[in-house]
Amino acid sequence: MSRNSSANLVRKRILVTGGAGFLGSHLCERLVRDGADVLCLDNYFTGRRDNIAHLLGQPNFEVLRHDITDSINIEVDEIYNLACPASPVHYQYDPVQTTKTSVLGAINVLGIGRRTGARVFQASTSEVYGDPTVHPQTEDYRGNVNPLGPRACYDEGKRCAETLFFDYRRQHNLSIKVVRIFNTYGPRMHPDDGRVVSNFITQALRGEDITLYGDGGQTRAFCYVSDLIEGFVRMMASEDDITGPINMGNPHEIPVRELAERVLALTGSRSRIVFRPLPQDDPMQRCPDISRARELLGWTPAVGLEDGLQRTIAYFDALLGAGKASLDA
Ligand code: NAD
Ligand code: UDP
Repeated sequence: MSRNSSANLVRKRILVTGGAGFLGSHLCERLVRDGADVLCLDNYFTGRRDNIAHLLGQPNFEVLRHDITDSINIEVDEIYNLACPASPVHYQYDPVQTTKTSVLGAINVLGIGRRTGARVFQASTSEVYGDPTVHPQTEDYRGNVNPLGPRACYDEGKRCAETLFFDYRRQHNLSIKVVRIFNTYGPRMHPDDGRVVSNFITQALRGEDITLYGDGGQTRAFCYVSDLIEGFVRMMASEDDITGPINMGNPHEIPVRELAERVLALTGSRSRIVFRPLPQDDPMQRCPDISRARELLGWTPAVGLEDGLQRTIAYFDALLGAGKASLDA
């Protein structure tokens, strides 16, 4: 059934690929709460059953273990395509698989869209801008990606996925929604995820050294997860001609060194800050221009860094206290 014909008759059926991951689990929770029939698809590469355990008893929630690089036949009205490791540590672990996940994954979800008429949403990334020479980044900036470096499997994979989305739109008239996500954090990030917020918080709570890469002068802007999920839902519900790409993130930009200091202050930790080499191709500056999301979707982040960090610290404190920090938890 197409999304239009089903909309007023039955609950919307929504596929969330990567639904057991950090963002995916929050999205599934929101969609289940909104009354949709949600199918969470995941191969558990970086996702965890624990992230979705609280949804398993819900009559409108199902889980399918599947790798999105393999095609799948399924009847849905909407697809959120989030399947892909997002942390540099994890996407560089098996770079060929990372590119396959982005490119074959996009082809497979777009194939479902073509067969069923489902609207397809792509979780793209600020990494399509690479190490940007335009600041803050607007959607029309074409980026500065090193196609041969260790981040390319992710950056180029996501760029190619965007190309596929827009070609399916032009060639097959698919309804598409492309969002470029900037650094987002919050509860349910994996404690060994390797990204900066989870690293600093778990290090601070364990009393371990805080690992600052480079001199910490590189900047990022951190968005709290609930703000991002609200943006996803608004984007999916927007008019058909709003295809994106649309930047989503919090435009409050800080040096990574300042993040370390704020985590230390909020946790009251006595951890030391130690300096480690800056990874190759690590972007020096990153901050979203979110004018487009503001104008087209009326979306703007509401949770400040201090508040978001406190909520995330409380989550990791409980998790580490319960001894659930192993990779297979
Ligand atoms: P995550 O690693 O927590 O979640 C990714 C999920 O995808 C995991 O559950 C993982 O098991 C699953 N997955 C990976 N490969 C798969 C495959 N081949 N088949 C099926 N499932 C697979 O990361 P996240 O932060 O939740 O990111 C979700 C999406 O958002 C990703 O596509 C990522 O590129 C994008 N994104 C996230 C951020 C961020 O700051 N969190 C920033 C930019 C883009
Ligand atoms: N970083 C750091 N210490 C860590 C992990 C990351 O200083 O333990 C830095 C990293 O070099 C980058 C920034 O924090 O400059 C954000 O890294 P992350 O991996 O979270 O995401 P990115 O924005 O690089 O994709």
